[in-house]
Amino acid sequence: MPAAIRIHELGGPDVLTYEDITVGEPGPGEVKLRHTAIGLNFIDTYFRSGLYPAPNGLPLIPGNEAAGVVEAVGEGVNGLRRGDRVAYGSSLGAYCTERVMPAALLVKLPDAISDETAAAMMLKGMTARYLLRQTYPVKAGDTILVHAAAGGVGLLLCQWGHHLGATVIGTAGSPEKCEMAREAGAAYVINYREEDFAARVKEITEGALCDVVYDGVGQATYPASLDCIRPRGLFASFGNASGPIQNFSLLSLSQKGSLYATRPTLFTHVATREALEANAADLMAVVASGAVKIPVNQRYKLKDAAEAHRDLESRQTTGSTVLLP
Ligand code: NDP
Repeated sequence: MPAAIRIHELGGPDVLTYEDITVGEPGPGEVKLRHTAIGLNFIDTYFRSGLYPAPNGLPLIPGNEAAGVVEAVGEGVNGLRRGDRVAYGSSLGAYCTERVMPAALLVKLPDAISDETAAAMMLKGMTARYLLRQTYPVKAGDTILVHAAAGGVGLLLCQWGHHLGATVIGTAGSPEKCEMAREAGAAYVINYREEDFAARVKEITEGALCDVVYDGVGQATYPASLDCIRPRGLFASFGNASGPIQNFSLLSLSQKGSLYATRPTLFTHVATREALEANAADLMAVVASGAVKIPVNQRYKLKDAAEAHRDLESRQTTGSTVLLP
C-alpha cells in the first residue's frame, strides 16, 4: 500500500502524520514514480509551520526533493520510460512512497549518481548552483562568506565555491561543524556562536570584506551580514533557518557602501525545462567529477520524518539528510 507523510494542520513536527494513500495512474504529461530516497530540506519545515503557505491548502504532503524509478508513463511523455532512474528538486509532495507528477520536472540519473546521492542533492545542489553561478557569478580570487557552512546547502557552497577558485569563509555553530566546513574547502571558519563573525571577517580579509554573503540563516545573522560585504557587493539572503528577517532596512544598503541585496528562490531559477536541464547538468557534472561531494550524514525512515524535522530544527544535523521509504 502506498503511504505518505501528510499535514492536516500546521504546527510542530508532531503534525507530520504517516498514512496510507491511493495513487492514481499518470495523465497526459505525467509519470508515476516509486520513490527510493527522499531529501530533507529546511523548506519542508516552513510548509509544516505555515511560514510558507501551502499552494493548494491542507492536507499537504511536504517535501520537494526525491529520487526514484518510473513505474508508468502518461500520454505524450517523451524521453522517459518504465524503469528509468530519475530525480527532482522542485516539486511539492515528495514525502511519499509513490506519486504521480509532471514528467517535465524530472531529470534522468546517470549511472555515476546513486539514488541516495540524487535525493540528497537535487534541491540543495541546484540551489548552490544558481547562487554561485547566477545570483553572484563567483570567479577565482573572489572572497565569499557562507553561513551555516556545515549544513545541507552550506557544505555544497563551500566545496563548489572553493572549486571555482574563491576564498571561502564559513560560519558554523560548533567546533565539529567548523571542521566539516574546513574539510569542504572553507579557507577560514568562524564559530558564530562564540565569535563576532563580522569582526572576524574584517580581520581575515584585512578590511577588504567579501564580494558576496550567502545567508540562509536569516534573522540571527542580520544585520551583521551586511558588515561583511565590500562596497557594491551583494547580500544574497536565501533562507530563514533562524526565522525570516523582520527589520530589513533598505537605507542601510546605502550606508554600508551601495550594497545590493536579493532574496532569491530556486523555483524561479528552474522554472523552464531549459533552465532545469542546464542547472541539473552543471550539478551532475561537478558531482560526477568529484569536485563536489554529497555528504549524506543522516538517514531516517520516511515514517520517522517528525524526528528528522526535530533534529534539523535543533541544529543536530550536518550536510544532507535522506528519508527512506
Ligand atoms: P541546513 O542543513 O543548513 O540546516 C540549517 C542550519 O542553519 C542549521 O544546521 C544551523 O547550523 C543553522 N542555524 C542557524 N540558526 C539556526 C536556528 N535558529 N535554528 C535552526 N538552524 C539554525 O538546512 P538546508 O541546507 O536545508 O537549508 C539551508 C538554508 O537554505 C535554509 O534557510 C533554507 O530555507 C535555505 N534554502 C533556500 C533555498 C532557496 O532557493 N532560496 C533553497 C534551499 C534551501 P549551525 O548550527 O552551524 O548554525
